[in-house]
Amino acid sequence: MFNQYDPINDQDLAKKMESFYDGENLFRSIKIKGHFSNMHVRMIPKSETNTKFAEVANNQPEHSATDISGTIVGIWTPKIFHGISVAGYHLHFISDDLSFGGHIMDYTLEYGQIELGAVDQLDQRFPVQDRNYLHAKLDLEALRNDIDKSE
Ligand SMILES: [Zn+2]
Repeated sequence: MFNQYDPINDQDLAKKMESFYDGENLFRSIKIKGHFSNMHVRMIPKSETNTKFAEVANNQPEHSATDISGTIVGIWTPKIFHGISVAGYHLHFISDDLSFGGHIMDYTLEYGQIELGAVDQLDQRFPVQDRNYLHAKLDLEALRNDIDKSE
């Protein structure tokens, strides 16, 4: 855990956080509580069942807020686990008054407290009784392309 007292953008803060990582092969949990001069997020609107991931992912309105207090939570994924997850940071924001949030694109932290954790397990469940999943014909190549496009 460390405190940030001066304004810092997301890329510089990422470098600072990474200086605390013990190696680069573990998932890291991240919590940042503070005040942000800028917060830029995107949010996927609720969609109907059976909407294709690519269609959903292609419709992600972006929103920006300035001078806002709130909390970031998320995960940093090591490169060796790219595929299971997407390598790098995946961070979400929610404002203290719960009125603004989403998937973070970029931000500038004015000041705050940063908590970092080492993730010691990954628990993957599978939908063993979901008939739609069991018999879905998944186009892996298309799925990968869609994920690359949306991340
Ligand atoms: Zn997200």
